[in-house]
Amino acid sequence: MKKRLGISYTKTNFHNYWNWFTIHDLQNDIQLVELSFEKNNTEDISTCDGFILTGGIDIEPSFYDASSSYANAPDEFQNERDLFEKTIFEYSQLYQLPLLGICRGMQLINVLQGGKLIQDLGALNAIHKKEEIDKEHETIVEDNSLLREITNASSGKINSAHHQAIDKNTLGKNLKANAYTNADHKTIEGFEFNDKSGKGFMLCVQWHPERLIGKEESPFSKKIKERFLQEIRKTKMEKISIINPATEEIITTLNEDTPQSIEEKFQLLKKAQPGWASTTVKERIKCIKKFVSLLDEYKDELAKTLTSEMGKPLHQSYNELNGAKAKIQFFIDNSQKWLEDEWITTEGTTKEKIVYEPLGVVANISAWNYPYLVAINVVIPALIGGNAVFYKPSEYTILTGMNIQKLMYESGVHEHCFELAIGRGHVGKALLELPLNGYFFTGSYKTGKFIAEQVAHKLVPCQLELGGKDPLYVMDDVEDIDKVAAAALEGVVYNNGQSCCAVERIYVHEKIYDEFVKSYVEQAKKLIVGDPLNESTEIGAVSRKEQVEFLLHQVEDAKQKGATVLLGGKKINGKGYFIEPAVLINVNHDMKIMKEESFGPITGIQKVKDDEEAVALMEDTEYGLTAAIYSKSFERAEKIMMQMNTGTVYWNCCDRVSAALPWSGRKHSGLGSTLSYQGIRAFVQPKAYHMRG
Ligand code: NAD
Repeated sequence: MKKRLGISYTKTNFHNYWNWFTIHDLQNDIQLVELSFEKNNTEDISTCDGFILTGGIDIEPSFYDASSSYANAPDEFQNERDLFEKTIFEYSQLYQLPLLGICRGMQLINVLQGGKLIQDLGALNAIHKKEEIDKEHETIVEDNSLLREITNASSGKINSAHHQAIDKNTLGKNLKANAYTNADHKTIEGFEFNDKSGKGFMLCVQWHPERLIGKEESPFSKKIKERFLQEIRKTKMEKISIINPATEEIITTLNEDTPQSIEEKFQLLKKAQPGWASTTVKERIKCIKKFVSLLDEYKDELAKTLTSEMGKPLHQSYNELNGAKAKIQFFIDNSQKWLEDEWITTEGTTKEKIVYEPLGVVANISAWNYPYLVAINVVIPALIGGNAVFYKPSEYTILTGMNIQKLMYESGVHEHCFELAIGRGHVGKALLELPLNGYFFTGSYKTGKFIAEQVAHKLVPCQLELGGKDPLYVMDDVEDIDKVAAAALEGVVYNNGQSCCAVERIYVHEKIYDEFVKSYVEQAKKLIVGDPLNESTEIGAVSRKEQVEFLLHQVEDAKQKGATVLLGGKKINGKGYFIEPAVLINVNHDMKIMKEESFGPITGIQKVKDDEEAVALMEDTEYGLTAAIYSKSFERAEKIMMQMNTGTVYWNCCDRVSAALPWSGRKHSGLGSTLSYQGIRAFVQPKAYHMRG
């Protein structure tokens, strides 16, 4: 895989930086990437193995606590650029990736390290300031410096095109000058890290190597370029490709987090959390309100990204975003009430109250099937409760995770209070090794059990939202069989069947069984499977390649044990992970399709002779997420609802979640509740106040 060199976009002569790298330099193993503050393509930063911060307009002086009125100040600054490049700098440091700062790039790094700038060189502009063409002068290189090692020169000709410079009296933290202007021996021409331990390659120069006269020969251009590219070639980031399941194309390839970057992000979260907790609930809710408005503002690109990385039909991605907004509204409307101090005793000598304090820094390790909805159950109440969140999106929806982070910060959530852990399972595992104050997981039983075991000794809250094998029972008294069959079918196939509370098995009273099956199959036949971007598509691609094989295996297993496949159940040939929705009858509980979570658009329909048999089969499962009963009679349905060992029961509906009700699984479906007032209180801890006097 090619290494990627990100070059920050500048309005002044960007092509010079780009063209500095010839085909010969890049060979076939390095690719250039434009990182543009104008396009705000921050997600591309995470694909790069090295960076150049380029020259250009003066840095906004508030970055180094200085006034914006000074000689030769520009008419306007580019604050977005400063912030965008700050992100690049921080990224390079977090992952120890090679960095080259040129002119303004060097000045930015200095101020980001706490240094100051000489705002205008005044008389020295005669040597340095660009007029028609670059000024040329000599530089002296410090002994024992990286620059000296690279150029193998103690002095040489460089160019000059700046009116600001590094203030040598207030050089940034851990920086040491490595070159000065010969003529005045005052102006710093380059710097590097003083203590390089634990740091990646970093070199900064005040001149412009990319356009130096004689750059093909000069060590102050050629050697620097050669060494910088060598350093990029040496990097060893673990990569993860984001694949579009409908086309099998690679959307992008991202760097995964490393044990060091996870540890550093944790330190940043820990440091930032108390400041966030010291704001009022009202202030935090204000940020969340803004987040909701941004979800709306960017809905088109958010929906497209979601569909492209996990394959659900585009209209369902819009539905998910709308559902997310509605859920968040519940937290906006109710958090204040459930988080404020609760007075218990206001009379007598001893007053008593309960204060709800944040847990601290909590992890949310999440699934891919509804990345907005499942993240929101945790991250919104956690943030409103004053926690900082270490959010690990699933490796199948990282781009959506990045979008969530971008919007969180745009909404005013404090810097470093919402960090992402990017990567596969081993990155999630690294979170378990940190001393976090709570673990909130959504995913499979297998991973959930592992997490619970790993963090048990920490004695911190650990909540699990896991899988299900949710039954739906149709009683013989239902009035409109077609309508019930339509509801059941939607419960099975919505979101390509990849919902934790999807209907996974159907039981039908023998009196209406034939009619139900006929209606179900007829309706299932009409489902449109195909390109998830098409408006008419009802079933897109399943998200993971292995899942196709897994589903085909369940169908095959059932067939071998005597089931009849009435419809579908085959892989659709061509590109993409598509499977025909399947309907199986003559099924029983020896078959995997009736016992193991399918997570796809397939289901078995089993005939039952009475309610008692239905209950026995519905309860014959290790899971306990939801159970649905369709009947005209609530009394009859309720008798069954009471016998279900599940967190949720439905009468005449299914596959639904309400923000006002607790969302919880029993047995292998989970531990603890999110949503409702319980899901607000889950992210805080009570402190009892006993007050006398
Ligand atoms: P998964 O368990 O494979 O992965 C979930 C997350 O855990 C991912 O971010 C993954 O990277 C991480 N992970 C994997 N191994 C890890 C390890 N050893 N340590 C720490 N983290 C690790 O699940 P999935 O395939 O992403 O999600 C599908 C499952 O989630 C289904 O079973 C579904 O029913 C369930 N789910 C449940 C709910 C609910 O509310 N109950 C909601 C959505 C999904």
